[in-house]
This record gives sequence, structure tokens and C-alpha cells, in this order.
Amino acid sequence: MKFHWLNLTHLKIQRFMSESVIVNWSNVSKGVLILVLGALDHILWLAWYWFGYTHDVLHHWLSKSYFAGHLRYLIVVITVFIILILSCFLFKNNKFFQKYFPYVAVLYFGLTFIKGGYTIGIISPATIAGYISLISVGLVLFERRIIYFTFIPITIFLLIAIYLSATERIDYAPIFSEELKFSVLYKNDFWVSSMLFLYVPIFFASIVLFEILLIQWKNREKLFNEMSLIDPLTGIFNRRSIANHLKCIQEKNIHYSLILIDLDYFKNINDTYGHDAGDNVLKNVANILSQNLREKDLLGRFGGEEFILILNETNLTQAVAIAECCRQNLQKKPIVINRLHSIQVSASFGVAESLEDLSNEIVIHRADQALYFAKANGRNQVRYYQELEQRHPPHN
Ligand code: GH3
Ligand code: MG
Ligand code: MG
Repeated sequence: MKFHWLNLTHLKIQRFMSESVIVNWSNVSKGVLILVLGALDHILWLAWYWFGYTHDVLHHWLSKSYFAGHLRYLIVVITVFIILILSCFLFKNNKFFQKYFPYVAVLYFGLTFIKGGYTIGIISPATIAGYISLISVGLVLFERRIIYFTFIPITIFLLIAIYLSATERIDYAPIFSEELKFSVLYKNDFWVSSMLFLYVPIFFASIVLFEILLIQWKNREKLFNEMSLIDPLTGIFNRRSIANHLKCIQEKNIHYSLILIDLDYFKNINDTYGHDAGDNVLKNVANILSQNLREKDLLGRFGGEEFILILNETNLTQAVAIAECCRQNLQKKPIVINRLHSIQVSASFGVAESLEDLSNEIVIHRADQALYFAKANGRNQVRYYQELEQRHPPHN
């Protein structure tokens, strides 16, 4: 929970980036994915249709008059899918293409899907279940505006097809023969297996996409959660997590001591070597300070060049010893600024102890007063609040 958080966070970011299989894809890539799935679905469809029609036992369940036209239609649809996919490789750098291609891809996918749904029965289980699966995945995969612009016309198309079929203005499930339509569908093996064959690939593709997106969302949420608690420069806890931690130990009535640390003459480092060198010093200081800590201690960045140490179940004497140890460590470890320079930094330390009925704010305030005292007294030293009380006893 200390400095190694920095490395951990970086690792997590890297892992997340490499795991971003789909979520962070561009809309064009997502459009290509949809088209590839659409093409595969229609190829499966074609295979099913061809198999059914050429199979002696199954042949009579399919409409003869519809066959040639529908076969041509499927070939044209698959060809257009392939042309759209290939066009992406030709025009992927074109701004206009990048903007409108995802709409065209989703719209084409949706309309061909509904047309397919109409041919096997617009309210058949495969069509309705497929529509629900696809709209759910679409909503997670694409930006809202793409989904609304495309799924509204697709849904209208679906509703019109349902209405026209219900009022018998268009043929219902024209791909099937009259014999099949007059049979009890749920007892018809060919119809049941066709429904399964046509829907199961959509179901699995949807589940796999959903699972990938969900895992990445959870990872992203976890990562953002961690990042919101960490100071990005030094990799130690930020002020927000310090406040949370203090609140938490106060609620549990845990006795603690608190050390405020402020680097001495830090502005000079910035002025002499530049802001980047200053940043580098801050990172190194965080690293050095974290080396002497116990498992129960918490190190955070309190502000610019100020750090805070919260020491659970630690009395003032122990806290002063820990602060002194940190001070000496800082002083004896030169920090490399560049190839020619390395510098020695020092810091001033203010220590205060949480006594009964003291709020967190008061303990921090006391440590700050002790720190101010350390600065006023010449810097590079550890001071604690009780010393001030002894010198200037509070008036009642
Ligand atoms: P003192 O011994 O009295 O504490 O002197 P000081 O120079 O350390 O204190 P002062 O408050 O005058 O200056 C603090 C400087 O820290 C000023 C500011 O530019 C610098 N600083 C604050 N945050 C950062 C940061 O994130 N990176 C860098 N490089 N500098 C920072
Ligand atoms: Mg300061
Ligand atoms: Mg300072």
C-alpha cells in the first residue's frame, strides 16, 4: 500500500491498454466487426438454406418458388458485406468515411437482419430473440447517437413488417412451404432446429461480446477507482485517500500519530534545475520516505512539496523516532538530478498525536504548528506539538 503502488498502477494501466480488445476500438473498427459478424451470419444462413433445399427429406419444408430469388438475394447481401469491409481498408483515413461508416455498417447489418427475420417469420423466436440480443450488444458497443440513428429506422422497419404480416398484406415467413406453415410449428423438428441453428450463433456472439465488454468495464472502473486515490506524480496516496483513511481510523477509535513533512528550500531546486528536476526530487523523496514504513503506516502527498505520514497505534515517542529516522534517510541519500548533478535534500518534520476527543483536523493543525516551529527553528529537524505547549502553555 505504499510506494510500490506506483509500479502497480503503471502495470495495471499497461495491462488494461493491452486488454482493450474492443472497448477502445474506433467506431470504424467496431463497424468492421459488425460487418464481419453480419457476413458470417449470412454465410451460415446460406449454408442452412442450401442444405435444407438440397436435402431430399427436408426439401418439402421450404418454398420452391422463393428459392432462386432468395439465393440470389443472399449472395448479393454477402457480397455487399464484403465490399463494405474492404472499403474500410481503402478509405479508413478519410474523415468523411470515418464519420459515416459506422452508421452505414450498423444500419446495413440491422436492415439485412430484419429482412432475414421477415423471411423466416417476423415474430418467430429466432427473429425476436436475435433482435433483443443485437440491440443490447449494440447499446454497449457503440455510442448512443450511432445506435439511436440506426436502431430507430431498423425498429420501425421491424414494426412495419410485423404490421403488414399480421394484416396479411405480406406473406408471413415466405421462405417456408405452405406445408410447414400449416403444421404445428413447435412439433416440427425442421422448424425447431432451423430456429436454433439461426439463433444460436447470434446468441453466442452476443454473449461473448457482452462478456468482453463487461470485463473491460469492470477493469476500467477498478483502475479509475485506484487512480482517484493515488497521486499521479509520486504514486503514493493523495489527499483524498488520506482524508478517507483518517476518517476511517477515527470511526474505529484507533490511536495514531501524524507527521507532516515539508521539503526545505524546495523552490530553490525548481529555480536552479527546473520544474522537471523538482518533480523528480518529489518522486525520489516519496520513495525514500516509504522505505522505512511499517505495514500499518500510510504515506501520502499532502500538497506541493508536503508529505504526510499517518502512523496507526503509535505514540508520540515512537512517532518522533520514526520522523527522525526519515529525516536522516532523506539527508544521507543524494538524489540524482542529471548526469552532472546530484543533490542532497532535507525536510522539516512536525509531529502530533491523536489524543482523546481531538478531531482529525485538530491533530493535523497541531502537526502543522510543530512543522512551522521546525522551519522557524532552522529547518531540517523534527519537532512535536507538546514542545510548543510546554513553551507557550495554552491560556484557559
Ligand atoms: P521552505 O523551506 O520554507 O518550505 O521553502 P520552500 O521553497 O520549500 O517553500 P515554498 O512554499 O516557498 O515553495 C514551495 C515550492 O514548491 C513552490 C512550488 O513551485 C513548488 N512546487 C509545488 N508543487 C510542485 C510540484 O508538483 N512540482 C514541482 N516541481 N514543484 C512544486
Ligand atoms: Mg510548503
Ligand atoms: Mg518547503
